[in-house]
Amino acid sequence: MLEAVMASDINWDPALSKLISTLKESENLSNDQEIDFLKALLESKELNALVNVHTKVAKVGRDDRLAPVLSTSAQVLYEVLEQLSQHCHLNDDCKEAFHLLQDSHLQHLLFAHDAIAQKDFYPHLPEAPVEMDEDEETIKIVQLVKSNEPLGATIKTDEESGKIIIARIMHGGAADRSGLIHVGDEVIEVNNINVEGKTPGDVLTILQNSEGTITFKLVPADNKGAQRESKVRVRAHFDYNPDVDPYIPCKEAGLAFQRGDVLHIVAQDDAYWWQARKEHERSARAGLIPSRALQERRILHDRTQKNGTDLDSKQNDDFDREQIATYEEVAKLYPRPGVFRPIVLIGAPGVGRNELRRRLIARDPEKFRSPVPYTTRPMRTGEVAGREYIFVAREKMDADIEAGKFVEHGEYKGHLYGTSAESVKSIVNAGCVCVLSPHYQAIKTLRTAQLKPFLIHVKPPELDILKATRTEARAKSTFDEANARSFTDEEFEDMIKSAERIDFLYGHFFDVELVNGELVNAFEQLVQNVQRLENEPVWAPSMWVQ
Ligand code: 5GP
Repeated sequence: MLEAVMASDINWDPALSKLISTLKESENLSNDQEIDFLKALLESKELNALVNVHTKVAKVGRDDRLAPVLSTSAQVLYEVLEQLSQHCHLNDDCKEAFHLLQDSHLQHLLFAHDAIAQKDFYPHLPEAPVEMDEDEETIKIVQLVKSNEPLGATIKTDEESGKIIIARIMHGGAADRSGLIHVGDEVIEVNNINVEGKTPGDVLTILQNSEGTITFKLVPADNKGAQRESKVRVRAHFDYNPDVDPYIPCKEAGLAFQRGDVLHIVAQDDAYWWQARKEHERSARAGLIPSRALQERRILHDRTQKNGTDLDSKQNDDFDREQIATYEEVAKLYPRPGVFRPIVLIGAPGVGRNELRRRLIARDPEKFRSPVPYTTRPMRTGEVAGREYIFVAREKMDADIEAGKFVEHGEYKGHLYGTSAESVKSIVNAGCVCVLSPHYQAIKTLRTAQLKPFLIHVKPPELDILKATRTEARAKSTFDEANARSFTDEEFEDMIKSAERIDFLYGHFFDVELVNGELVNAFEQLVQNVQRLENEPVWAPSMWVQ
């Protein structure tokens, strides 16, 4: 029966049919459940189809005429999506391309393409370890097929015993996937070469010079301590480049990242070097990054060095830079229907954050609202208490500021002005989106688990575009409203400097950066971000996510 099927409608893989006939021969020997299971598996159409696909792919992989143009198309797709997402508002073609490229079938097609292009289709099945007794010690022999991919393990000389041992296994790397090599295993031989008395460098040379299969003879560590991936995600508050880090134990194993990147910390068991992956690069091998403790020490060290050399160049609010910015633990904060996070527009004075706030409110005044500020100045004619301001006595406002009831406040011409936390909360509780555009120093008081603000840095464009757009729009200087004059060059330059300062001090806190060149474009980007916040989860300090 089987032969009949094999001959007619199915194109049987020769290796598979050979296995099936061998199995049939052994049927006489034993007829237990396991053999039945194996037979059913080998005879299944699905397995045969899979083997056929694999054979075809492997054949294509060997054909040099069919070399892929690139093997990272999925990465390119993400980059294109990222670019498109910023320009979607510009035209419908962009929008359509964005939607097409988001299709999961297309994305999986590209993943498959990349796997084939990277020749990642040979099975990485490790050889079963052969265990044997040698001087009453258990020895394991592990064979790995050498490919372009690094082994994903580091070795060191054990200080006490002087033996070569496995120091670290990189999560997701070849050694980790084999499941056969563990931290603490002692290396006795590599490709039949005894490594006793050799340095880790010598062993590396042996590895580099070997081709094909690498055979390790290892004494297993006492505690196999299977590595478990942690679920911790952090947002990096600094840039890191392992290539210029003189202290990293292995530069090739390092992971470069930039401030703002979300990193998945997969192992924290080493006090100084964590293993991490970039959040959007799910399948990648983990890389080494400095631990929080190490980075804190480095920053403190740098600060003491700097303080020693240039005592007076620092401005006071440098120390506002949240203690020591290293990593902040984050989690995805999901939108809750009817509960909107306050939108906080931060930016250099004059950059246009108030105008953006006004436009957002004008677009839908029922939905977007700003709190009525408090002031201690006397009411002017034409003003209505509770409309322009909530008018309060100085003593009362002083006491409330002292008690931390204001999310921001300032003094102007001898009078206090400020926004209370309570009025922000009452807008949120009313099911509206609270929109604020305070001074940047308000970030510290606003950024709480209770308010969960979405922080947007409204930045000026480059100087020539800044000048051109403001001239074009006949913008009036916000520094001298009484005279209704244009911005001066100095004001433009100050705006750019101030934006750089805000970025230096608080850049790591912003959810989004938005360049206010053409006001219409900046507004469109603002609207898109506000909509995104309502529909998609976004990374936020993990403390805010209950
Ligand atoms: P006026 O007394 O003319 O209404 O406003 C004087 C100044 O107070 C303006 O420059 C305005 O920006 C500032 N101001 C108004 N409301 C607030 C507020 O809620 N907080 C702070 N810090 N300043 C405010």
